[in-house]
Amino acid sequence: MISNTHPALAGSLRSTVPSDELINFSPGPTSLPKPVEKSIAASFSEPGLTSLALSHRSPEFLEILEHAVASARSVMGIPDNYEVLFTHGGGHGQFAALPLNLCHEASDVATYVVNGTWSLRGRDEASRYCDAQTIDGRDSSTGDYTSFPELTEVDIDAESRYIYLCSNETVNGIELHRLPKLPESRRHIPLVIDASSDFSTKPIDWEGAGVGVLFACASKNIGHPGVTMTIIRKDLLGEGKASPLCPGVFNYTTNSEADNLWNTPATFNIEVVGRVMDWIAGIGGVEELERRSIAKASALYEVIDASDGFYGTPVTDKRLRSRMNVPFNLMGGDVTLTERFLIESWNKGMVGLRTLTPFGVGDYLRASLYNGVTIENAVALADFMKQFAREHAA
Ligand SMILES: *Cc1c(COP(=O)(O)O)cnc(C)c1O
Repeated sequence: MISNTHPALAGSLRSTVPSDELINFSPGPTSLPKPVEKSIAASFSEPGLTSLALSHRSPEFLEILEHAVASARSVMGIPDNYEVLFTHGGGHGQFAALPLNLCHEASDVATYVVNGTWSLRGRDEASRYCDAQTIDGRDSSTGDYTSFPELTEVDIDAESRYIYLCSNETVNGIELHRLPKLPESRRHIPLVIDASSDFSTKPIDWEGAGVGVLFACASKNIGHPGVTMTIIRKDLLGEGKASPLCPGVFNYTTNSEADNLWNTPATFNIEVVGRVMDWIAGIGGVEELERRSIAKASALYEVIDASDGFYGTPVTDKRLRSRMNVPFNLMGGDVTLTERFLIESWNKGMVGLRTLTPFGVGDYLRASLYNGVTIENAVALADFMKQFAREHAA
């Protein structure tokens, strides 16, 4: 065992390289694209005029808010019959807000596809407010989350108020590159998507897939913690639809009628999301981000698959491998080798490969490849992994 006091092993994100050479592979919060970070920094040179100092009801902030909504609508192709909300309480807030808005009674049924740590957490939170039924995605032989279950008619109660799934399981490394189609007899049920860690990195077929609600906490791909985008099909809104116990700050109808200003929204965070959306539009849209995501993830999976077992990754079905979060281990989880890898990569400025999660340290390191990570950054890690394997393979 190498001494546990090395900053790399404690998850430190400040390496000894100059800060502009740092590559942040954190699972979130994490770095935004450099041009966005620079534009935010530049906005601070006008004292008093950034959204940190603007009243949320001033014409100046209204312009920022309307711009952020319009830019997100355009970049993500959000149809007019969907409302765009900036909500409070992060992803976890939405875990509770969903059943409180879509189930009027606690006895109403909702169906949860549980194929990883985040959908499990969403289901557990919902169970407090509705009858949450589970489609269990664990592998029947290993008991691990490594795939996505088939959605069959018999598994989905026809009375479900919604069907919930997570389009990228951030910890397990399982991604739906396109949303699934429900069985014909269940297409009347709205899909609810937790897209916290893949939103903005690929197109979404809103109406074709039957999306009712989609939410994404900002802190992975589109901004900083403190704001969450929640996008709701308008027919799910309306007086009397939510549970009478739904708090006002969580109530979709209340916040939609107040145009996101029922209470003070996270003004600065909303401005940042708008800047990220503008950046996406400027580089060629979500199609370009998807191309980059595929290139980044492929660089790493290719090294893993060609390493003769030196590196391992849990998801073997390539159609489901996450482009956002690439989990990997060394020699089946060899502790000494893993610690050496963490320290050597950290010394080269590659940080965030092992961070704590609510689910513990876990067996795998994880390279997260959000919008702030460039293709060159991912290739640098892939090259380091190749070199490390050459030096340490038995
Ligand atoms: C990070 C994450 C969350 C948690 O969001 P908070 O903003 O911390 O509440 C939920 N779902 C997914 C898929 C995530 O990656």
